[in-house]
Amino acid sequence: MQQGQIRTDVENIFPIIKKFLYSDQEIFLRELVANAVDATSKLKTLSGKGLVKGDLGDDLRVEVSIDKDAKTLTISDKGIGMTKEEVEEYINQVAFSSAQNFLEQHKDDGAVVIGNFGLGFYSAFMVADKVEIHTLSHQEGAAPVKWECEGDPKYKLGEGDRTTRGTEITLHISEDATEYLEDHRIEQLLKKYCKFLPVEIQFGEEENKQTTTDDDGNETEEVFTTPKIINNPSPAWTKKPSDLSDEDYKNFYRELYPYSFDEPLFWIHLNVDYPFNLTGILYFPKLKNNVEVKKDKIGLYCNQVFVTDNVEEIIPEFLGLLHGVIDSPDIPLNVSRSYLQGDQNVKRISSHITKKVASKLEEMFKKDRENFEEKWQDIGVFLKYGILSNEKFADKAKKFCLLQTMDDKFHTLEELTEKVKDTQTDKEGKTVILYTTHTDEQDGYIQNCLAKGYEVIKLNTIIDPHFVGWLDQNNENITLKRVDADIVDNLVEKDEQQTSVLTEDQEKSLKNLFGQLMGENSTVTVETKALSPEDMPVQITKPELMRRYRDMSAYNGMGMDTMPEMYNLIVNSNHPISAKLLEEADETTQSAMVKQLHDLALLSQNMLKGSELTNFIKRSVNLV
Ligand code: ADP
Repeated sequence: MQQGQIRTDVENIFPIIKKFLYSDQEIFLRELVANAVDATSKLKTLSGKGLVKGDLGDDLRVEVSIDKDAKTLTISDKGIGMTKEEVEEYINQVAFSSAQNFLEQHKDDGAVVIGNFGLGFYSAFMVADKVEIHTLSHQEGAAPVKWECEGDPKYKLGEGDRTTRGTEITLHISEDATEYLEDHRIEQLLKKYCKFLPVEIQFGEEENKQTTTDDDGNETEEVFTTPKIINNPSPAWTKKPSDLSDEDYKNFYRELYPYSFDEPLFWIHLNVDYPFNLTGILYFPKLKNNVEVKKDKIGLYCNQVFVTDNVEEIIPEFLGLLHGVIDSPDIPLNVSRSYLQGDQNVKRISSHITKKVASKLEEMFKKDRENFEEKWQDIGVFLKYGILSNEKFADKAKKFCLLQTMDDKFHTLEELTEKVKDTQTDKEGKTVILYTTHTDEQDGYIQNCLAKGYEVIKLNTIIDPHFVGWLDQNNENITLKRVDADIVDNLVEKDEQQTSVLTEDQEKSLKNLFGQLMGENSTVTVETKALSPEDMPVQITKPELMRRYRDMSAYNGMGMDTMPEMYNLIVNSNHPISAKLLEEADETTQSAMVKQLHDLALLSQNMLKGSELTNFIKRSVNLV
């Protein structure tokens, strides 16, 4: 047998391989199975071109097996195999130097490259003390070859005894990696990395039962075993969309996420071959107002080999709400993650996916608006998230982002602006879009708006506080106000002014009466206003900008408790009670009236709490 020494600049890279990516050792199995699958696919291609003579045999499966006694793990294929010269070239030179390059490139970023490609064949030495290759090339008259290496730069290469075409790689698992001799561990890894490889992968056998009934009605149960195939060699994303039914897409979703009970809402089949390669299926899950849940992530594959489900650097963050698979050989996988964002192909792929998602939604909106509206609860959260985080997406999506009015009808922003412009345009020419964040709590204000013939939209999902800000900033001609931002007459500011029945001095005293009650409380601003006598005598409003600021701070978790709720107390100078208040000669009665009116205003806002509420009730009972 020929003895050799692998040419190496580094004194001995094996100890480094062994330590390298320690936490991600498991990828060795993916590398070896992927090689076996490649060798099999190459054979099929050659045969297709008539370059391999004879029948290939029906079963070109790759087989993974464990021998617990011998402490070995074997991966065998019936692929093209290797001649002695090829082993020299591919294993001793190419594979070795690529492993060396890989280690050199990543010597500083250790765990950063987790899950990525590159180490190849030599990754076997992460878990094995000794590796053997037995191979027989498909070439006519080729001789079997055996290669052996014990984790040092020396190797043995000689004549082997394999009689059938293909390659068998045997790993003598090292003492500290015995987990790879456990069936369940290997099965788990094969399911993780190899679930959609294009050639059948067998691991062990499974029992099947068949019951047959004879002519007399006697049942016999027959138990037999068949090879256990780990993977689905032709997953839906590799097929033509025209060959797939809705049911096929749903079945594939279940295959990807067996623990998900919900069906996907709809999906997008990606299929690009120029200027980059990209295939995949993205599913829209039911989000139900929930943007945090991301348990079923998008899987990134490279030619059907699973790479990672950590696709953050590869696709825009908001697309991470989707589920499914993307497969591209053009994403550089053996480079560190921070580099990926700068990569041209990654950028193109990312913007392609964004565009596709936007067009799919637009198509649904245009073709079947009713259906689109039905799914709005889920689509809406996603769409708003996309609008807020991606300008290009926002440009498209704002045309079909829907706003729901109190009558439960949906409108685009353009449609709504058109609908309300006559009634809701203020003196500066801006259309005021009125919204509620809580239909129950803000009911009084909503009713006032509706009575005035205004439309009120519901913005009550967790993403809406941000969306309100976006709408305001990106649309010059509109302004958004929550229904309680001002008294209803002032929400849409017009030039018309009601005149007060009180004199200026009387207004001042009225304001003072309430001002005294507030005392040092600087979070309340008292104002008198000449409203209609039918309006409430005292009202509370929450100035839009201040309130939004407070909402955002609460959302961001900063000082929600420390920032007090600010409000305006609007006293209606035209209400008969105001005049009565001023006429009241008895100061105690007067301040009791002021207190009662203020409490009533608070009560209508659900802001009267605790002992204040108890006292209010007692006082009211006494009055009766
Ligand atoms: P890569 O697969 O990225 O080329 P590897 O280190 O995994 O790098 O493998 C090096 C080469 O060894 C392969 O390109 C292939 O030519 C050869 N090889 C590895 N495994 C097999 C196999 N099972 N059958 C045939 N050739 C193989």
